[in-house]
Amino acid sequence: MDTVIYNILPTEMQQLVQQIEERIGREIGIRPLSDQARRMGNVPAIQIEDNGRHLAVDLMLPPESNPAPHIIAHEILHAKHAILDGAPMLQPKIPPMKIVISAINNDSEHLHVIPAEIMMFPEAKAFWERDFTAGLHSFADRVRNDRDRKSVRNDLLRFMLVTSAVLPDWNGHDAVDAHLRNLSIVSDANNLRQAYASVSGSKEQVLSTLVRFHRLRTDDYIVCYAFAPPAPLPAHKH
Ligand SMILES: [Zn+2]
Repeated sequence: MDTVIYNILPTEMQQLVQQIEERIGREIGIRPLSDQARRMGNVPAIQIEDNGRHLAVDLMLPPESNPAPHIIAHEILHAKHAILDGAPMLQPKIPPMKIVISAINNDSEHLHVIPAEIMMFPEAKAFWERDFTAGLHSFADRVRNDRDRKSVRNDLLRFMLVTSAVLPDWNGHDAVDAHLRNLSIVSDANNLRQAYASVSGSKEQVLSTLVRFHRLRTDDYIVCYAFAPPAPLPAHKH
């Protein structure tokens, strides 16, 4: 990895970078964010590409940005979970499922990545509180106006799950509950919270739970692991 970026990381994170690079047999690349990603938020991202022979991991940064160490670490933790811990990800089988599947992947990873990030970088807590507050504001209009009730429902359920799991003392939970009431999905939210609590230790079961709450069909997605062929998700626990 580029030494300027590497050197702003604490030793523990530098060791993770080395372990990931050893595992994939190449350096983690640094690349500018794509134009599309810049339009969608202009925040750093990590890209893991499997070309069948090897995995390539690239940290994508907004041009001329100077991200805080915890923001770089956040992206490295995403890569660590997939590559060193072998956490599964969903992949869409058909292009129209791409948006919802990538949202499920990102949010299900955040259930793991954000607490790990805050543990190492206490300043990340205030960052995520601000980020979630901005996210909360974006729901206000959607709950009132969005014609696509299904995607507002799904997005709000995931938002509720991530915020309640990773920042239990954030001051936006009451406002999330009000949106849930307005959409009449309080019982869905309670069921999801409860289902998550009983499977939170297993990424497979977490994906399985989210897939069920999103009412996806099994031919909408496949499950992928960093160094293994696709496999089915386990049946959900009753
Ligand atoms: Zn992330």
